Amino acid sequence: MPIFTSRGAPLAHAPPADLTIPQFILDHHHPIRPVRKDNTPWIIDDVTGTPMYHEEVVARVFGLANGIHNKWKLKEDEIVCIFSPNLVDYPIAVWATHRLGAIVSTANPSYTAPELAHQLTVAKPSLLFTIAAALPIALEAARTVGLPEDRIVLLTTPVPLSVPAPGHLTRADDLIKFGLECPTQFVERRLNKDEAKTKIALLAFSSGTTGKPKAVAIPHYSVTSNVLQAATFNRVNDDTVPNDLRRYIPGDVSLGVLPLFHIYGMIINLHFTLFCAMSIVITPKFAFEEMLKSIVRYRITHLYLVPPQLVLICKHSATKKYDLSHVRFVMVGAAPVSPELQNLGMTVLKNACLIQGYGMTETATLLTMGTIEQRKGGVLGSAGQLVSGTEAKVIKEDGSLADYGEEGEFAVRGPQMALRYEHNEAATKETFRDGWVHTGDKVIVREDGEIFIVDRLKEFLKVRGFQVAPAELEGHLLGHPDVNDVGVVGIQDEFSGELPVAYVALQPHALKRIADDPKEAKRVKEDLKKARERSFGLLFFKGGALFVSDSKVRYKWLEGGVEFIDAIPKNPSGKILRRVLRERVKKLVEER
Ligand code: AMP
Repeated sequence: MPIFTSRGAPLAHAPPADLTIPQFILDHHHPIRPVRKDNTPWIIDDVTGTPMYHEEVVARVFGLANGIHNKWKLKEDEIVCIFSPNLVDYPIAVWATHRLGAIVSTANPSYTAPELAHQLTVAKPSLLFTIAAALPIALEAARTVGLPEDRIVLLTTPVPLSVPAPGHLTRADDLIKFGLECPTQFVERRLNKDEAKTKIALLAFSSGTTGKPKAVAIPHYSVTSNVLQAATFNRVNDDTVPNDLRRYIPGDVSLGVLPLFHIYGMIINLHFTLFCAMSIVITPKFAFEEMLKSIVRYRITHLYLVPPQLVLICKHSATKKYDLSHVRFVMVGAAPVSPELQNLGMTVLKNACLIQGYGMTETATLLTMGTIEQRKGGVLGSAGQLVSGTEAKVIKEDGSLADYGEEGEFAVRGPQMALRYEHNEAATKETFRDGWVHTGDKVIVREDGEIFIVDRLKEFLKVRGFQVAPAELEGHLLGHPDVNDVGVVGIQDEFSGELPVAYVALQPHALKRIADDPKEAKRVKEDLKKARERSFGLLFFKGGALFVSDSKVRYKWLEGGVEFIDAIPKNPSGKILRRVLRERVKKLVEER
């Protein structure tokens, strides 16, 4: 049956297949790109209010690229990891890397040393950008993969956030200054016709269908395409669009509170905002009331949010203290958004059009969003419609293709598709199959084009918009001496979306202890929430016992609880039957 196509405006101008991301965003005048108003900054530092205009952005990118080249002479396709919160120089580091023909891999700045070490092991960077406050973790992780200290570069943080750092380390500011003063030595990487389709720009981490986080190889073309797809779909430079339907107007200001290490922040919040001739206020850390203050201080017009942030806007008493009436557009995505929440959001942010967006790392973000005709907001509960240039099919359980109104797995194709999971052929074959990305999401496409995400078929959980790979937590918990076997699934949570719950089959000696002393059960559960890390040799040798709360970033903690079970349900080939565990979770919800 059908292949669904986007009903948005067709991509009148093919995405550029010979431009890198910075060439497209910083240097190029695409025919559908809105003209920037004179004297509007590109980037504003939320903490200090300091604006950065185009000329300075371009100069800093040049200085950094030249500085890096003079100091290290990066080779083609070497990897530069950025382990940092959002800072004004974050995009500068991204674009400088691309000017050099190298690849950016972004890491969550809240990662613990073992988590960062995992990413460094997979991505194998030769340069690591970080901040002084994250240095102990960066150094620890760098040491485990043999990345020398002189390959670490410190980004400048606004003064209230800065902490002292050893003087011998390289600072991005100094590199930029040096790069601007010394003779130009680097030759900007230019692409041949169609080369942007295969030249990798980003290695972003996602767990895909199953297993631990993997590096998604995203070429320049996927990113520039997705920006153009969103721009075309929203008819950003179409004079025939009535004023009251215009979503992105040059001079508008977007809040950059979504983390730039995640694809939604990087592509939509940052690059799409800049393409639309808007300014972006770069916020290093999400703190709810600070966010409200920034919305007011910078007269923010556009918000890109994950559901828990919208929950706070709707339910936190502080919201009433702030005048948010200038917010005109809100996109919520990265995790399911209930119709109730969307409805409430529309009421609280009464002057805003509030829609859902849906996408994934494997498609350089956006696949669907609410249409511009939906003045007040999208259809409640709908993730919107396919963005321009995107095709989709819905595969039913029996392998046949679904028609309108029928459920099945969503498969998509379009110029925004990433190429593969780097160094992982098996996972690549599973997700990037026959020219389609198999999303692992269960959807219904309605006859009017609205798409509803009804379930997630793939393993990972979404906790406050972040992926949590059960396999990662299971591997970790198996290292605990009391654990015989374990399966991790999600339990619904109003604020976080879902939280990890561990079902644990205990070792006989632990069962005996519990039989001897009923209080022991609680102790074991608490201990498992902390779960001693035994596998990470280096840290273990340092002497201190390591716990989940010490060795995993907060959103991975077992805040959904630990439940004992006789045996983990498995199929004959040993695969955990997560469906069965999810059924148990439903009962758990009723009991709690
Ligand atoms: P990530 O690669 O971290 O962006 O995760 C992508 C996954 O997040 C998708 O495959 C969905 O499972 C989920 N997701 C993203 N946006 C939405 C949405 N609007 N509604 C439901 N799930 C979403």
